[in-house]
Amino acid sequence: MSKGRSSPYALAKGLAEKLIHSLEKYCDKMEIAGSIRRLKQIVHDIEIVALVKEQAMDDLFGQPVEVTRTSLDDAIDLLWDNELLAWRYDKLKGGIKHKRLFHKHTGIQCDLYVVSDRRAWGSWLAVRTGPVGFSKFMMQKALKLDMFFEDGFLLHNHKAPYERRGSSRCAYGAKCPKIIPLPTEVMVFEALKIPYLSPEQREVKFGIG
Ligand SMILES: [Zn+2]
Repeated sequence: MSKGRSSPYALAKGLAEKLIHSLEKYCDKMEIAGSIRRLKQIVHDIEIVALVKEQAMDDLFGQPVEVTRTSLDDAIDLLWDNELLAWRYDKLKGGIKHKRLFHKHTGIQCDLYVVSDRRAWGSWLAVRTGPVGFSKFMMQKALKLDMFFEDGFLLHNHKAPYERRGSSRCAYGAKCPKIIPLPTEVMVFEALKIPYLSPEQREVKFGIG
């Protein structure tokens, strides 16, 4: 369960929009996900998915280096300096940056998921929009179609080659030639052969009260 303070839809949405307004110039895309997108009237926390601008860099020897800090990080630090936000944590998990922040004035929690691979933008948006039941349904539907998601929700169009600690692993990882690019959410529904459901319909069908 979330420890964030619950708040009415309008307040949470207003705050989410302000955050996006402050940060969107550092991203290629930024969208409100979670229960706000599903139009729930009581919101426990704000979820935002961001696609960072590509910042390919080479080192002295012309080898690509992994960018660990982006201008988005700097912009968030600035909001923190202005006492608008405070950190809970900032970590890298499965190729994604998950920043948990909270708004100092209201105590509303904000989870920011920073996606760097645009092939996974659609799946990230769908998974973070939820609800949990829908996200699980997506994963199961993929397996039924002999596909699977891994490493930040990249969709591999082949059977999982082996199982490790309950999760499937592709030997080629993000370089697998059978990854289906999902740059939009609609493409996720198409790839998984699920008739499109609006976020509110996902709430009605898969939400729990
Ligand atoms: Zn693969």
